[in-house]
This record gives sequence, structure tokens and C-alpha cells, in this order.
Amino acid sequence: MKAFVSVDLEGMPYVVIPGHLSLKGVMYNEARQIATKVTLIVAEELHDNGVDEVVIADSHGPMVNLLTDSLPDYVELIRGYPRPTSMLSGIEGCDAALFLGYHAKAGTMRSIFDHTYSSLSISRLEINRIESSEFLLNAYGAGDLKVPVILVAGDHQLIEDDVKKYSPWVETVALKRSVSRAAARSFGISRIERELRAGVKRALTNVREQRAKLLVAERPVKMKVTFQSAYFADAAEMLPIVKRIDGLNVEFTASNMTEAYNLFELLCLASVGVDAIKKDQS
Ligand SMILES: [Zn+2]
Repeated sequence: MKAFVSVDLEGMPYVVIPGHLSLKGVMYNEARQIATKVTLIVAEELHDNGVDEVVIADSHGPMVNLLTDSLPDYVELIRGYPRPTSMLSGIEGCDAALFLGYHAKAGTMRSIFDHTYSSLSISRLEINRIESSEFLLNAYGAGDLKVPVILVAGDHQLIEDDVKKYSPWVETVALKRSVSRAAARSFGISRIERELRAGVKRALTNVREQRAKLLVAERPVKMKVTFQSAYFADAAEMLPIVKRIDGLNVEFTASNMTEAYNLFELLCLASVGVDAIKKDQS
């Protein structure tokens, strides 16, 4: 059996300030150590329970967050960004997916680092008219490739809002509970480790007893994107497939979720370009 693990940072325990999240952040090193510890606990538990190969997609920001000096030989690490299908890179051919360090979508009340994919440019994403978090985006992407998501570990609010609502069969572990957008509480790492190991065991039992299900987006896939600025929507509508709805909203239809995912990523990359140009002009 081959498992896929996608690792974000914002939903990791103890990660609470912007300085945890960027390459030059003052507490980036702490965040890297926490994310590595959590990821290796999950990888080890997967391996101890019969998983032969673990593909890990480092999936936050520059996507080089995880420390590499103690990776076991059953692990393959995917790092670096930009890349096609972003947080799902490497999922093809895996039997199950686990998402770690995931967080609530943009606009969620009192929820740590709430955002959807790009905190620079995106204020709302809809997939087939369903307001989507990164969890839903990636779970639909996995479902399109016939890979069931079996465990989500991250912010409690994401688990309550989206994971339980759209995929109640998925095992969950709350790594932290938000107090506000800027604060959260978490238990000690030994308790987190115990809960993660138990969660992985339950998730693999679900696979063996055929309780794991795919989350599948109906085809064709319709995406509606609300940008934070008309600068970004102006750039997005240059792509012929993209239809401008109004100042901040665009939509497009893709034949499947992988295509929709990559188009969405392309619009986010275009926004980064527009932002760089505007900064250069000021
Ligand atoms: Zn992130």
C-alpha cells in the first residue's frame, strides 16, 4: 500500500504568527521543526501499520518547509513550488491520502490564519457552487484521481465546518483550537502524538474495511473565484476560458477537477505577477 501525505503549516500546533510561515520569518525554524515532527509521526505510524511507501508533498508557501535529515527510507519527499496540482503533487497512484496542518477557509470567524490557497489574492472559492476550503479543493482533486482522503489533522474549526460536513467518514485529529485569527491553543506534543497515531490506525482500518470513500466533484467542474482586488480579476479574464462576472468575481468550467485545480493555480500565479508589478510601480 502507498499513502500520500500533504503537509500545510497554518494548522500545525503552536504555529500562530506570520513569522512562523515564511522563509525569512523570525520563528520559521520552530514551525519547520513542528511540521517535521508531526509528519514523521504520521509516516512512521503508517509504515508500522502496513504501508510500504509514503509520498509526502511539502505543501505550504515555498514548499521546502520539512527538514530532511531524518527521513526514513520508505518516505519520498516532494518539495518546491510552483508545480502542477500544487498541494497534491505526487498523489497519482496512491491508495489513500492524509492532509496535515490544514486550516479553515477565508472568512471563517475567529479561526487561525483563515484563508483559501492565496492570502494575497483570493477571498472566496466555489467549486460547483460549494464554498470551498483548501481541504475541499484537495479532497475533490484526490477524488478525481480515485484516491480517498482518510485522515485530516489541523485546525478544529476546519474539521467542524468542512471535513465533518462533506466527508463524515474521514478520521480527524484537531492539532489546535483557534482562539482568534491570531491565536490558538494546543495540547502538549505527547498527547498530540498519541491522538495522531490512534487516528492513523483508525483511518487504515477504514481502508481495510472499505469504509473510506471518494469525494467526487461532478463533471464538468465549475469554479467561481472571488478576488481581493479587481487588479487580479482584470488579469484572470485575459484567459479566454475565464468569464468575468463583476469587479471581483470570475468563473470558468473545466472538464475535470485536475484541470480546474491547475487553472485556479494559474490564476493565483497571475495574481502574484500583478502584485509584483504594482509593487514595482509604487
Ligand atoms: Zn499554508
